[in-house]
Order: sequence, then structure tokens, then C-alpha cells
Amino acid sequence: MDPALGPPEQMAEKRDELTPMMAQYHDLCARYDDAIVLFQVGDFYETFCGAAERTARLLEIALTSREDSTGEYPMAGIPIDNAESYIEELLEAGYRVAVADQVEEPGETSGVVERAVTRVITPGTLTEDELLSSDDNNFVAAIAREGERLGLGLLDVSTGDFYATSATAPESIADEVSRFDPSEAVVGPDAPADPVPDDCMVTPFDARAFDRERAADKLAAYFRNPDALLAADAEIRACGALLAYAEYVRGGEHEGERGDVDDEERVEAVFEGDAEQRLEYITQLTRYDPREYLLLDAVALRSLELFEPRTVHGRDDATLVGVLDETASALGGRKLRDWIRRPLLEPARIEARHDAVAELKSAVRTRERLHDRLREVYDLERLIGRISRERANARDLRSLRDTLAVVPQIREQLADADCERLRSLRENLDPLADVRELIEDAVVAEPPIEITEGGIIAEGYDDDLDDLRGTARDGKQWIDDLEERERERTGIDSLKVGHNSVHGYYIEVTNPNLDSVPENYQRRQTLKNSERFVTPKLKEREDEIVGAQQRADEREYELFCEVRSEIAAEVERVQGLAEAIAALDALISLATVAAQYDYCRPEMLERDGRDGLEIDVEGGRHPVVERTQESFVPNDARLTNDRRLAVITGPNMSGKSTYMRQVAQIVLLAQVGSFVPARAARLTPVDRIFTRVGASDDIAGGRSTFMVEMDELATILREADERSLVLLDEVGRGTSTADGMAIAQAITEHLHDRVGATTLFATHHHPLTELADELGAAFTLHFEVDEDDGEVVFHHEIAPGAATGSYGVEVATAAGVPETVVERSRELVSEAAGDDVDDGESIEEREDAIDGDASAEPTAGAAAAATADGGDIPTDIATELRALDLAHLTPVEALTELDRLKRLLEE
Ligand code: ADP
Repeated sequence: MDPALGPPEQMAEKRDELTPMMAQYHDLCARYDDAIVLFQVGDFYETFCGAAERTARLLEIALTSREDSTGEYPMAGIPIDNAESYIEELLEAGYRVAVADQVEEPGETSGVVERAVTRVITPGTLTEDELLSSDDNNFVAAIAREGERLGLGLLDVSTGDFYATSATAPESIADEVSRFDPSEAVVGPDAPADPVPDDCMVTPFDARAFDRERAADKLAAYFRNPDALLAADAEIRACGALLAYAEYVRGGEHEGERGDVDDEERVEAVFEGDAEQRLEYITQLTRYDPREYLLLDAVALRSLELFEPRTVHGRDDATLVGVLDETASALGGRKLRDWIRRPLLEPARIEARHDAVAELKSAVRTRERLHDRLREVYDLERLIGRISRERANARDLRSLRDTLAVVPQIREQLADADCERLRSLRENLDPLADVRELIEDAVVAEPPIEITEGGIIAEGYDDDLDDLRGTARDGKQWIDDLEERERERTGIDSLKVGHNSVHGYYIEVTNPNLDSVPENYQRRQTLKNSERFVTPKLKEREDEIVGAQQRADEREYELFCEVRSEIAAEVERVQGLAEAIAALDALISLATVAAQYDYCRPEMLERDGRDGLEIDVEGGRHPVVERTQESFVPNDARLTNDRRLAVITGPNMSGKSTYMRQVAQIVLLAQVGSFVPARAARLTPVDRIFTRVGASDDIAGGRSTFMVEMDELATILREADERSLVLLDEVGRGTSTADGMAIAQAITEHLHDRVGATTLFATHHHPLTELADELGAAFTLHFEVDEDDGEVVFHHEIAPGAATGSYGVEVATAAGVPETVVERSRELVSEAAGDDVDDGESIEEREDAIDGDASAEPTAGAAAAATADGGDIPTDIATELRALDLAHLTPVEALTELDRLKRLLEE
């Protein structure tokens, strides 16, 4: 058990002796034993004992201690005023946080101040803007099992986005989990956690929540006909539990309930279906079948750099989303990400987006004006979420109003829209004039953040409020005039009327004038040079003012809450508007990119029968790479059912893997609805993209690269079909050359004969090019390089046929490897050419061969090493050789290592 969680041992031992406050802390820790409890003491959130030690270290705050009659306890606290940034760090470190606030004023009670957990903050259920990325969703997932079937629910608590799906294969669920990349997964008693990746927090939740009947009831509280909406019991159980969890975590934050919500009661309330707990802004549940979208598993998501750069230190914009995102609003940013996450399959739906992009691309001025307007749009989804959760302040309402004010201008720009998609978007841009008027009438233009201290509601909105304000104003006026009146009455010219927070209003008379003070003055305060008085009338007026002001503040808060809930009732209309704005922004972004980077509209081909794919790209470019370097050489790609397996050869760094990825990314972009970086493209939608790319890219915990590679290959061979696009880069490197070659050949044959997938296979194994000549639907491509005075020149140009050599040594020269090493490498290459190893092999593979044999059988390895050197190798060097993990070395590192070993030999 993590010492930061649960009741501290030091306290548990003597629970009954603890001071009331510490006992409270102990009990809250016991109840929230999976979270760090932040315990309000005045202006600080404190933690004690193990939790204090942990937070002090994590947050780099001072570790102090608190001493009372029962002992001394380590203590660390964070100021409430900027708690959010500290909470963020705790979440990042993998903790949940339970915030225990003082729920009564210290003055209200004689005993210890009551505290209660008002919110549990978990990575998947955040709604605080400061803790969320604005242009990305933040999902919490729930997984439930019913028989063979696994149900998956995905909810963004901050926006209300809600999805459901199910499958019998755990891998399919794992794929969907990677697609949505949730930061937390809630699992039931019988659901496995294995579809959840390591960086996702797993939260076991009350088994009751996953119960079929309760889950169905919970769903029924939100959606009209959940049984028709969802396809399987497993989905119902996952989604019902997810709603229960969201209510449980967020339920305590309703302002009105703050304080009187005990945790046990809250759990009960969630299961009893207490309507108070409902999160009204969750109005839509999208049930989908993974097969409705281009399927991308975790491996493909990563190797095609959709959201994360492939290298750890890669630039953030070196991703597909970085290339495509020119959105103006957070709404559009999230929508675009959703489209990239779930590329379409239906040509008609894809073309509807292409039509809109085409129209916006050519309407330059309109597009720019729309973009400018959209920049003024606030995050409507999260705004309405806050409004609905009663967390919105008056400024949020004004933000909503400001957003609604630009909607008519956006509509106006779309007046001449031609294509179906844009026209229907325009129709859906409801300016919500009633809501806007309500806010304009009710809320002043620049309200304060606080909602209980008045100054929010506009003059003329409410008669009662205006009366109260009038009373207060009249009273103030009477007092303002008082000074003048009293000076006249008493003849004291220096008489002053003032106000302070302790005594309220007073009349001040300096000592020399005290003789002239009238009868009805009552002395309140004696100062050094003066005395302060009040009159009964002054007190009366003062009470009137204070009373009226107080009631006005209360009335304002009341009115504000009314307005807020009146708007909350329009949640679905606001969400409809948000949806339309989001889609428009995403389309404009795609059009902007298409115009700026010279993309073309791809022609989408119907998917007729099961005839395989057609991918025909003229002058294609890699969307990410072309942005990061000065010039990029466009290349064609022609793949049809009769020519569906391309074996691609060429030296390292000649452009093979860039080429393969670019083909896949063009396909993907087209299905997202984007134009593509090419001169022309004709494409059949692809159902699924598989990638098996670069051994050193996937360093999965504990498994050898060879195992990872074989695992990925097994998935491809099992699941690919004639609607799949498969990219294979360097298969069979983690084992001996002979083994690797055999595996590569068998895979090629299998993919060709049985799977029928469209395949791009980059390889160093030259015999594969001969195999390609024998297989009917296979063909060869290569990247040629020139040698100019011992230096290689890359053209990055793809051509038919097989490459002639691998130029590994020349590449090493170009990379600045010492001349002696290069010379020796040349010797080795020509020596090896005399052996029965294929000519085309690179020097790396020769090392692979040594390494592979060595790890299989030490003596053979030593022998192989000895042969390669042509003499005896001392055992220590042989050992070092064997230990080399070639799969994880770059060619340059390998050569440098070789150089070092060679020097050792020469010593
Ligand atoms: P390989 O897979 O053959 O080892 P890569 O595809 O990794 O080679 O390409 C190596 C580098 O060459 C890339 O990082 C990129 O900078 C450059 N490159 C690749 N293709 C092109 C191209 N078509 N035009 C310009 N530069 C390219």
C-alpha cells in the first residue's frame, strides 16, 4: 500500500485518542483510501504523515510538523488560492485527489469545524479549465464484461461527449481504447484491465454500479430509450457504471449542496438514482461499431505519428494533427482530433467533407473572415457543462453571450454556401437569440467573478432588486447630505460624516467644538483630537441601507441562479450550436491547410465487392516530413489488386520508410475528409492500416524487440484482409540473417497468397525481390543512390525494380565515421561477398547474423566472430560483442562500437 494513501499508521494506532480535527482527517483518509486527501485548515490544504512526506517531495513544498497533546505529525500544505497547479502535479504523478473543505464557518460552531469531501479529482473526470488541454478531449473509460463480450464506454465529463462500443476480442477493445486515449479507466469486478495501456489510471469502482439493472436505470435517467441505443448488455453495464462514476466524482460540487453532502450519502444517492445528481449536459450517447471507421491500433497510431511525434524528442508539430490543425477555436480543435481519430469509410460521407473543403478552399476571403470570427468563440461545450453543473459564474454567462453575438455574422458569411454540408451547418447555427437576450437583459456587461456579492444583475431586470437598490441609494444620499445639514444646524464647520467597518457611520467633531454638540448626539468613540458620535436617525438609516444591500445581494444571487438554470435548460440547443461551430472550424482548418500547402482533392472510389484496393497517387508527399525540411521529392504510388504487394529496396536513408508512411498518411488524410499532399490521387477507402515499422521504435517493457516484432506480425497476419493496407519495414532483423530471411519470405507469401492485403514491404533482404518476381501480384520498387567520388548522393526518387547495392558503408562515410573504420568495413564487405551471404546485404545485417548466432549459441557466436575477423578474438571482446544489442543501435553507433572493439584488438 502506498504510504501516501489511506489512514496514516501513526494515527490509526490511537484513533480514539486523537484530537477531533486529526480524527476527522484520519476518518476521511480511511474513507477515501485511494486518494490523497487535501484537508482544509484555514487558507491551506494540509496533508499529514505519509501523505505529507510524499506531497512535500512531489510538489517541492516544505515539510513541517504539527504537534498536539497526542504526538507530532509530519505536515505539508498548499495554499488554497493556487491549489490547482499543485493538484495538477499530483494527478500527473498518478494520484487521485479528494478535496476536503471546511463546510461550516469556524464561527458557527463551538466544536471542531465540520469538513467534507466536496470533490474527488481524478485524471479522467477533470472539469477544471486550468487542468485541461483546451483542444483535446479528456476521456474516462469504463469496461464491463457480459459473457464473451466486452463493453466499452467513453465519456468526457468536461464536454459531455459520450461513446459506446463492444466487441468479443479484447484486442478490439484495446484498439478502441488507444484510439480515444482515456486518462482513466473504471473497471468492474469481472472486467479485465488488460485492454488498458500503462499510462492510463485504472480505477476499480463499486460493483453495484456495473449491475445490469442498476446500469440500465441509470442510463434511463439520461436517455429516452437506452436499450435501443446500445447493442449489448456489456455496453449498458459499462455506460451505466460510467455515468454513476461521473456523478459520484462530480456530485458533491453542486454549490447548493456543498456541505450537507456526506460521502456515504452521495454513493447511495448515485445508486438510488437521485435526480439531483444528474449531469444534465450529458445529452447524447453515440454508439458505434469499430468497423464503421478506419481502424488504427496503438502501433499504427504511433508509427503514423497521428498525435505523438515518433521520437521522444520530436517536435510537437511533427505530427499529423500538428500539420492539419489551423483551427481557431477549442471546439474546432477537438472536432478535428476526433475526425483524425476516426477516419471514415463511406465514400459518400468522405466526399461530403471534401465538397465543403473544396468550397472553402477556393472562397479565400470568406474563409479568412470565418476564421477571424471563430477566434472569438468561447469553448461552448465546457461553458454549458459548467452552467449545467452550477459551476458557472456571471463572466461565463457573458462569454456565452459574446459567442452567441458572433453567430449571426458566421451565418452571414455562409449565406452563399453551395454544398450540402455547409448549407446544413448554416441551418444548425442557431444564434439562440432568446438566450442571448436573457443574458443581455439580466447580466451587466462586466460582472465580477464572485457570484454572491452583488454587482451582477443589470438595472431594470427585476423590480424587487431595483427597489432594494433604490432604498440603499436613497439612504446613502440622505447620509451624503447629512454632513451639510449638521454643519448648518450646529455651526461646526469642521464637522465630518465618515464610515468605518467596525462602527459603521459616525459624525466626527474635533475637540475644540465639543461644546456645540447637540443633545441627540450619542458618543461612540474617543480619539486623540476628536470624538465620534451617532444619532438614532443615522443608525436607523444605516440599518436600512445595510439591510437593503444585503437583501439586494441575496436577491442578485437568486436571480443569477435562476438565469443560469434557465440557460441550462437549453443545453441541447447550445450543444447543437457548438457541434456546428466545431465542424465548421475543422473544415476551415482543412481548407486552409489544403490551400497553403498545395493539397489536391482525392478522388474516392467505390468499394465494389471484395476486390482489393486501389491506391493511385501522383506526386505524393509526406505531409509531416515536407514541413520539416527545405525540399521534398514527390513520388508516385500505384497499387491495384493485380499489383498489391510492393517489395521496396534501397540503402539506408534513401527514403523507403518515408515513402511507405506517406502512402498510408495520404490514405488516412483522405478518409479524414482532408485534401492530400499530392498532384492527384484516386483512392478506395481502406478499412484498416497495419504497420510494422522500425525495430528500435518500439521499446516495450521487458520484451525483446524480436518478440515485439513477431507479436505485431502475428496480429497483422491474423487480422488483415484485402481491405487492409499493410506497411512492413525491416521484418526479421532481431534474429539471425537466415531466420530473418526465412520469416520475411514466408510472410510475403502468406500476405500475397492468403491475405490479399495491399502491402508495402521495405527490406534489406534482396532475395525478396526475386520472390516478388515470382508472385503474380507482387512487384519491386527501389530507391537508387549515386556514388560521387566515394560519397553517396540521395535522390529520394522511387523507381521500378530492385536496388543494386545497399551503400551502407558509403552512408557511414557520409555520417562522418572514422576513415579506418570505413576502410575495414569495405574489406569485410568484399570478404563476405566471397561467402555465401547475399551481395546486397548491409554491414549491419552481417553483424545481426553474428549477434543472432551468438545469442543462440555462445560457441558458434565466438566462432562466427573469429571468422569475421580472420583470427582469434580474446574472450572479453567476444563477450562484449555478444552483449551488443544491435536492434537498438543506429548504424553509426554500431560502427563506432566496432571501431572501439577493433582498437581494443589492436592494443
Ligand atoms: P530509409 O527508410 O530508406 O532508411 P527514410 O525514409 O528514413 O530512409 O529517409 C531518410 C531521410 O531522407 C528522411 O528523414 C528525410 O529527411 C529524407 N527523405 C526521405 N524521403 C524524401 C523525399 N522524398 N524527399 C526529400 N527528402 C526525403
